[in-house]
Amino acid sequence: MDYENYFAEQIAALKAEGAYRVFADLERKAGRFPLAANHRDGAVHEVTVWCSNDYLGMGQQPDVLEAMEGAIRKSGAGAGGTRNISGTNHFHVLLEAELASWHEKDAALLFNSGYSANVTTLSTLGSRMPGCIIFSDSHNHNSMIEGIRHSRAPRHVFRHNDVAHLEELLAAAPKDAPKLVAFESVYSMDGDIAPIGRICDVAEKYGAMTFIDEVHAVGMYGQRGSGVAERDGEAHRITIIQGTMAKAIGVIGGYIAGSAAVVDFIRSFGQGFIFSSSLPPSIAAGALASVRHLRAHDELRQRHQERAATLKKRLTQLGIPVMPSVSHIVPVMVGDAKLCKQASDDLLRRHNIYVQPINYPTVPRGTERLRITPTPLHDDAMMDRLVGALIDVWGSLGIKKVAA
Ligand SMILES: *Cc1c(COP(=O)(O)O)cnc(C)c1O
Repeated sequence: MDYENYFAEQIAALKAEGAYRVFADLERKAGRFPLAANHRDGAVHEVTVWCSNDYLGMGQQPDVLEAMEGAIRKSGAGAGGTRNISGTNHFHVLLEAELASWHEKDAALLFNSGYSANVTTLSTLGSRMPGCIIFSDSHNHNSMIEGIRHSRAPRHVFRHNDVAHLEELLAAAPKDAPKLVAFESVYSMDGDIAPIGRICDVAEKYGAMTFIDEVHAVGMYGQRGSGVAERDGEAHRITIIQGTMAKAIGVIGGYIAGSAAVVDFIRSFGQGFIFSSSLPPSIAAGALASVRHLRAHDELRQRHQERAATLKKRLTQLGIPVMPSVSHIVPVMVGDAKLCKQASDDLLRRHNIYVQPINYPTVPRGTERLRITPTPLHDDAMMDRLVGALIDVWGSLGIKKVAA
C-alpha cells in the first residue's frame, strides 16, 4: 500500500467537501481578551474573538494568574508522577475538596482533561459492573460515546432530551440489571438544556444511576455557579457530575464529583486516571483560584446571560437565523459547509472578527453553523461591529435569512 498517497487522498476528500479544518493562529493577550493577535499570511492582525470557550474570561483573571505564577515559583513545572507515585501535589488535594464542596458532593477526582474524565469514568462503570446497561442521549459528546463504546456494555441511545423515549428503554430492560443514564446539561452546539429533573424522575423510578456532563455549564449556571443541576435544585439526585476546568474555569483539566464510594471506585479502577501523570501544581492552583472566584461572583453570570440574550435579540430582529438556544450559546445557522467556511473567512479577513465555522462531524451535514459565544467582556461597541459584519456577510454571500 502507498501509505502517503492514502493519507493525501483522505485529506483531499475532506477539502472537496469543505470540511477540512484550518486553525486560526492566535496570540492571546492577557488583560485584553476578547481581543487577540491573529498571525496569517505573514502578517499580524488584531481580531475580536467571538467563539472562545473561555466563557467568562477567567483565563486572564488576575487572581488566577497570580495563583499559577505563585505555584510555579513554589512547586516548579510538573507534578512529577502519576497520582499514586509521587504525583499528588497539595494543590490537587485542595482543588478536589473545593470541587466536591462546590457541587455539594462527598468527593471529587481530577483528570488531565474533561475528555479523559468522560472516557475513563464511563468505560470503568460500564466494564466493572457486571450486566450494566448504559442509556445515552443521542446528542452526547464524542468523549462520552467513546467511553461507553470502550466499556463494551450494552448501550441504548434515547432521542435527544426525550424523557418518554428514555423511560420506554428503561422499562424494557431487565429490572435488576445495573443501569446508567448518561447525558449533558447544556448541549454546546445547539445551546439547549436537558430536563434534568424529569430525567432523574425516570432514572430513580427504574433504579438507574445518572451521569451528567456539565462541561458547558460549570462556572456559568446556578447562584454559586456549579452548573444547571444546582440551578434546577437537582444536583443531589445526580450520581456523578462531570466538568472541565478548560472552559468557564479558564485553565485546563477535567473532573468528576460524586459520593465517596463512587469516586473512590473510579480512583481505584479507572485506567485513564491511574496510568497518566497528574496535572502540574500550577494548573491545580489556577483552577482553585478560579473556582473560588466564580463561586463568589454571580454578577459575572448575570452579565454573561445578558450579553447572550442581547445578541440573540439583535440578530433575530435583523433576520439572521439564530437557532433556538436557551443558554449562553448563540448558534447561527448557515446550512452548508463551504458557505459556512466562506462566511467565517470573510468575517476574519474583512472585519477582523473571528468565529470558527462548525462543520461535520461536529454537527450533522446540512446544519453547518457559526457558533458565537459572547462573554461578559464583549462590550456594546464590539457587538455593534459583529452585528454589522454578519449583515454584510449574509448579504454578500446570499446566505438565507429568516422572517424577523
Ligand atoms: C469540550 C468538551 C468535553 C471535553 O472537555 P476537555 O476538558 O476540553 O477535554 C467534554 N464534554 C463536552 C460536552 C465538551 O464540549
